[in-house]
Amino acid sequence: MASIRELHKQLVKKERSAVEITQEALDRIQTVEPKLHSFLCVTAERALEQARAVDAKIAAGEEIGLLAGIPIGIKDNICTKGITTTCASRILENFVPPYEATVTQKLAAAGAVMVGKTNLDEFAMGGSTETSAYGLTANPWDLSRVPGGSSGGSAAAVAAGECTVSLGSDTGGSIRQPASFCGVVGIKPTYGLVSRYGLVAFASSLDQIGPFARSVEDAATLLQAIAGHDPKDSTSLKVPIPDYTASLQPDLKPKGQLKIGVIKETFGEGLDSQVEEAINVALAQLQNLGAEIHIVSCPRFRYGLPSYYIIAPSEASANLARYDGVKYGYRADEAENLIEMYTRTRATGFGTEVKRRIMLGTYALSAGYYDAYYLKAQKVRTLIKEDFERAFEHVDVLACPTAPSTAFKAGEKTADPLSMYLVDLMTIPVNLAGLPGISVPCGFDDSGLPIGLQLIGKPLREDQLFQVAYAYEQSTQWHLHMPQV
Ligand code: GLN
Repeated sequence: MASIRELHKQLVKKERSAVEITQEALDRIQTVEPKLHSFLCVTAERALEQARAVDAKIAAGEEIGLLAGIPIGIKDNICTKGITTTCASRILENFVPPYEATVTQKLAAAGAVMVGKTNLDEFAMGGSTETSAYGLTANPWDLSRVPGGSSGGSAAAVAAGECTVSLGSDTGGSIRQPASFCGVVGIKPTYGLVSRYGLVAFASSLDQIGPFARSVEDAATLLQAIAGHDPKDSTSLKVPIPDYTASLQPDLKPKGQLKIGVIKETFGEGLDSQVEEAINVALAQLQNLGAEIHIVSCPRFRYGLPSYYIIAPSEASANLARYDGVKYGYRADEAENLIEMYTRTRATGFGTEVKRRIMLGTYALSAGYYDAYYLKAQKVRTLIKEDFERAFEHVDVLACPTAPSTAFKAGEKTADPLSMYLVDLMTIPVNLAGLPGISVPCGFDDSGLPIGLQLIGKPLREDQLFQVAYAYEQSTQWHLHMPQV
């Protein structure tokens, strides 16, 4: 599959048109979608129209940017004006946003071609894309397995070549974990680097939008296009955005200049032995490239999961209060009065996992429990942040597995929410601390399922993450493997 840079070259040299590139993606979608179901809706007409506009620019001798004419998938919790945005929930079944998210607005301005909206766990709550109200997405490497989640559709679509890159959102691991399960690159940026305007809120203090790509360079190119201050998002940071692709070098020399800290708490019990082995081989490879490897401790890392499952549902319970059958989407009929309409709408419009979170969050925030649960969880969050800060006093980048295992079978964890929550053990602390984290392919297990290496950076040091990930990727072959769908 061609990279952004290769496609750009072909366009500029007029070897291929944007319409041809778009049509190829649409054809691929038509071929594999019956097996994968990465997309909730395919926007073929609009995509071809956008492609024609790019071709017209090229024909007129105008300069085009790197993303012009590049097929991209957008997670269906990102608002697209005039195109349904369902969050994979019944409650937003027919919701057509009257406005455009900042990220998709930026991408459209850059000439990127949106081919469709991708499947996800309902309201991004889940780790397998199985809580979607509109059916499962299959893992392109093994159709009986999940693609991870919640951005499973975005990850599967890129892995299977249905689009060149895609956008997902990551509240507790929803970009990095599916990237790991599908063998692609996924990055969750520093909290506040990318505007959340138009991203349907799950847990506002944790949510971030970020790219999926088949290479580090493509991911860096996409992040470049969507990062930056946005007056429409009050948590958006006012910081200069570095040139991410400029830092991409094939090695990490001079030797010893870059220190990588391996988080020791992420190894041991609960970690699949083949994942552990692949991570150790990857770390040795990083050492060969010039990095200095240290073992570091984040003793409170393991409290990330319990504190996240107080904080995220609390915020979700407040954010999801707006779906009452009046303002958006679905409304239950045959109600006798207003209260009954509200309750019926929410009872039938939301799926089980979403209702579980709303109840957990409402409970944790209620008078008498607030201090014991919510406040305590926020204190733990501060301690986890301090663990990272302490670790970063000695090293530049942290490393650990992205997920404790490779992709599991569909249905394997649906009856046991706690086992599903555990798949985000290693990604959640990064969201709690607001740090950037990337997952890069680092091998396959005996069943041929991809394994991901997670690299965690200091705040706003995405450039460093890209640098390390790129040097690693270029010295390996993992990113060149494509699943046979
Ligand atoms: N799997 C985690 C959850 O269910 C994280 C989801 C996410 O990052 N959106 O909350």
